[in-house]
Amino acid sequence: MVDGFLYAQPVKIRFGEGCFEKLGELLDELGVQRAVLVSGRHFAPQAERMTAADGRFAAAFCAVEQNPQLSGVEETVRLCREHGADAVIGIGGGSAMDTAKYAAAVAPNAGDAIDYYRGRRSFDAKSRLTIIAVPTTAGTGSEVTQVSVISCGDEKKTTNDPAFMPTAAVVDPLLTLGVPPRTTMNTGLDAIAHAIEGYWSKNHQPITDVLAIEAVRLALANLEKAFRDGSDRDARGAMSFASLLAGLSFAQPKTAACHACSYPLSERYHLPHGEACAFTLDSFIRLNADERLEKLARGAGAKDCAELAAHIRALKELAGLRCRLSELAGDVDAADLAAACLAHPLMNNNPRRFTQDELAAMFEALR
Ligand SMILES: [Zn+2]
Repeated sequence: MVDGFLYAQPVKIRFGEGCFEKLGELLDELGVQRAVLVSGRHFAPQAERMTAADGRFAAAFCAVEQNPQLSGVEETVRLCREHGADAVIGIGGGSAMDTAKYAAAVAPNAGDAIDYYRGRRSFDAKSRLTIIAVPTTAGTGSEVTQVSVISCGDEKKTTNDPAFMPTAAVVDPLLTLGVPPRTTMNTGLDAIAHAIEGYWSKNHQPITDVLAIEAVRLALANLEKAFRDGSDRDARGAMSFASLLAGLSFAQPKTAACHACSYPLSERYHLPHGEACAFTLDSFIRLNADERLEKLARGAGAKDCAELAAHIRALKELAGLRCRLSELAGDVDAADLAAACLAHPLMNNNPRRFTQDELAAMFEALR
């Protein structure tokens, strides 16, 4: 029997090679008059060309960094208010899209970004700018989720709010062709983690289960190809699709143990998000292994959970990602790290409840 469920997915998704070139058509459809572009520095020359060519691109903030800071949100909000923007377009990895989403939810309302960050004001999904999310990596899934991860100093905070849900996503695999190999691996493993965590989440449901299994299958079949040859358009297209499916698969169920642990790992040791999630992914596959997870492993093309975990570990090693505590900065106290991971709310979404000793033992095994 199929369990009852409620599934919602409000984002208009455009997918395909070259669809970014038709961004103007999407602005027509959505009635956008004045948009602010948000991206990392690499996109600045193109953003300049876009603002020069089409008056609807009113301004650009092209200084978003990895683990984006609230200051970037504040600058984007300032531009939106100054130019009377009706839309924010985030072009990049999760950092650019999350900054765009946060700014779009603050800009048309009273108060500054810090007021929302500190909980002194609440977001209102009915009062926010149009959000267009354009991923240029294959991994975060931010284009189809209402999650935004923003840091303030060393504090990294995830906010999950309907006000952040993009109005539209433009997923053009051609935009990922220039992504360097290591980032390709980091973001690809993030996508795999999203799908697996959405699947084992306590809030998983029948539709997201199907999306998750296919996302992992596609990613396992194509991530190494995209890593070895970034110009492989078939592999890039498959990874963009896998990342999108993975985003859809965890958007409602939310992530669990790996993402919970990724926060202390990023805050303390500055691991990029994907690498931080992948750090514990193979360990948690072994710890969470049960009949349901075996079904995902087989559906994704592995013999069982052990083979799935070994495949992920091999991908990490192939790309030279950090896999052991000894590769992190300083002398890591496994018990202290375990306590910090356990304190993260996403840990409650994991199908198994872990004790601090169990998590410390998991980290010790990685020393
Ligand atoms: Zn993630």
